[in-house]
Order: sequence, then C-alpha cells, then structure tokens
Amino acid sequence: MNKYWSELTKSLSPYEPGEQPQDRKYLKLNTNENPFPPSELVLNEIKESVTDSLRFYPDPDALKLKKAISTYYNIDTDSVFVGNGSDEVLAFSFMAFFKEKSAISFPNITYSFYPVYCNIFEIEFNTFSLNDTFEIDIDAIPAESGGIIFPNPNAPTGVYLGISKIEEMLLRFPNIVVVVDEAYIDFGGESCVNLTHKYHNLLVVQTFSKSRSLAGLRVGFSIGHPSLIQALNRVKNSFNSYPLDSLAIAGAVSAINDNSYFTYCCNQIVEAREFLANELTSLSFQVLPSKANFLFVKHSVLDASLIYSSLKENGILVRHFKNPDVSDYLRITVGKKEDMIILVKCLKSIIEAQRV
Ligand code: PMP
Repeated sequence: MNKYWSELTKSLSPYEPGEQPQDRKYLKLNTNENPFPPSELVLNEIKESVTDSLRFYPDPDALKLKKAISTYYNIDTDSVFVGNGSDEVLAFSFMAFFKEKSAISFPNITYSFYPVYCNIFEIEFNTFSLNDTFEIDIDAIPAESGGIIFPNPNAPTGVYLGISKIEEMLLRFPNIVVVVDEAYIDFGGESCVNLTHKYHNLLVVQTFSKSRSLAGLRVGFSIGHPSLIQALNRVKNSFNSYPLDSLAIAGAVSAINDNSYFTYCCNQIVEAREFLANELTSLSFQVLPSKANFLFVKHSVLDASLIYSSLKENGILVRHFKNPDVSDYLRITVGKKEDMIILVKCLKSIIEAQRV
C-alpha cells in the first residue's frame, strides 16, 4: 500500500477483466466479444471522420447518437442517455440512484462489477439467491431493497428472465429504481425497453460491445423516463462532459443504421450457440439454457480449471471464475460456427486424454 493513497483507494478490490493476452494468438472465447467484424458502414464512417475536425470537442450530448437510438426504439430522445461503454452508464446509475439509499440488491451469481461499484461509491448491498435452475427468483429479493440491478440475460449464466417477471418485480417495487442490464439482450431475449413508458422507475442499460461488434469503441446507453435520464446527465456532467469521442459517436450511429448486418450477426451467433450447446451436452457437459452469446457449462467429471488450462495450452481461451460459487463452471463465448467446431474437437481430445 502506498502512503499517498486515500483510505478509499486502499479499500478497493477492482474488477478483473478477462485476459486480453498479447503473447500469442488465441481463439478468444473469454470476454464475450463478437466474432464478426464491425459493419463496413461503421468502419467507413469512422475513417471519414478522421479529419481536421478532431481538434474540436465532440458534441457533449452526442445528440446524433441519441436520435439514432430513439428512432430505433421508437422513444423520445430525452429518454436516452449515452456513455463510454455500458460500464460507465452502470457506474453513473449507481451514483445517481443507489447512493445513500438502503442496501441495494442483486443476485448472488451475477456480473462481478456490481459489488465493485458498491465498493467505490460506498453503497451497501445484499445478494439474493438464484433458484435451483439458476433463474432469478423475485420472491427472494429483500423487501427493504434500496434499489435492484441484474443483467438480463444474467451473466455469467446466460439465463433469461421473461418480461412478465420483470413487470411483476416493478409492481412489487414501485418506489426504488430497478436497473436491467441488457448487455446480451440481442441474442434471443426480448428487451423490456417498452416497459419504461409505464414504469418510471425502470432503467434499461445496453451496449454496442456485444451484438454490434464494437467493444473497442466503448459505447453504451440507457433508456428510461426523462427524469432518470436527467439524473444521469447531472452525474455525467459532474464527472466528464465528453465521455463519447467524435469517432465513437460517428461509428455508433452507423452501427444502429446497419440493421441488416446486425440481424445477420445475431442470427449466426444464436445458431452457433445452439450447435455448441448440443455438442457440449453430448460430451457430458451440463449446459445452462442461454439467451446470451455465451454458455455456462460444467463437465460431469472433469474439473473446470483443468479444462480451462488444457484449452489454453491448445490456444483456446475461455473464462474460469475463481469465486467458489461458480468455480465448477466455465463460461464460453459463442464464436463463429467454424470456431465452435475447433473448440469441440479440442474438448473431445482433452476428455479422451483424461480417460487413459
Ligand atoms: N454488463 C454486463 C452484464 C457485462 O457482461 C458487460 C461486459 N463485461 C458489461 C455490462 C459492460 O460492457 P461494456 O462496458 O463493454 O458496454
């Protein structure tokens, strides 16, 4: 510990992102990136935006992007907030809605950034257990919660909660903000954006990192009643007026506009996911039903850490979490079908090798 650090800094346990190794080329199935490149329209638009105008600050409101998102979802522009990746949008949401409230609630198995935000913003939290099939159980959410947040589909499980259950939750908790983190919603789930008209305490957060192949551009957004969006703007403008740079705004607008490429990529991933789920089941993996671009799996015999390291030796990276609640599982990002064939072949040989 450095003597110059604040007490808060000393107390932090930062989020550990999945590896982005630089030593060799891996088949990367560890950080839920999209195997397809960004749309050509996006790449061209970004290239065309590399001009003398970069000496100007970007639009602090990123209005073009907010308009593109509001047209896509058929909502008002003042119901949209944009930020530097959905992680930043989530961080601002914790600050805007959860600080100084009673303890907030999220599932015991979920996105591991949530407790990290609680840590830095000094927000108390409780976790509630998922049921035996890893689904969110509304009855398990503490009645006194000061706020609720969960991903839908959940991460790292991939398990999806239907809209009617979310509506039931909103009816039960009308006086606190409910944040639904839809980072993976485009891979087969139905977004609950439409519920924001009826429930003014609902904030839906999404990202361009997964379904739109733009993890490197860092663009996320949220949709909710204008009063929630105003709160996020107050936090943002007390932190950084320009979270989105000009290239990110230009690229993200084109990504929203190229709907046919977006649909094509999502469909390919859903198809590859179903293929992989079947193959893994026949290799004696327990595969949780997933509506995300990843599968959460556990082998009936082999240890997850052994499979993780054997795959890595063979140039394939998947995610293994050390948290004892999930350390029996591996999270595998769904890639192109040809990559899934390579993965399955490698797993077969790892399993074979353990038999002798
Ligand atoms: N929410 C969930 C559930 C995630 O898994 C991720 C990706 N790590 C994010 C949000 C953040 O994604 P990004 O900041 O790239 O938008």
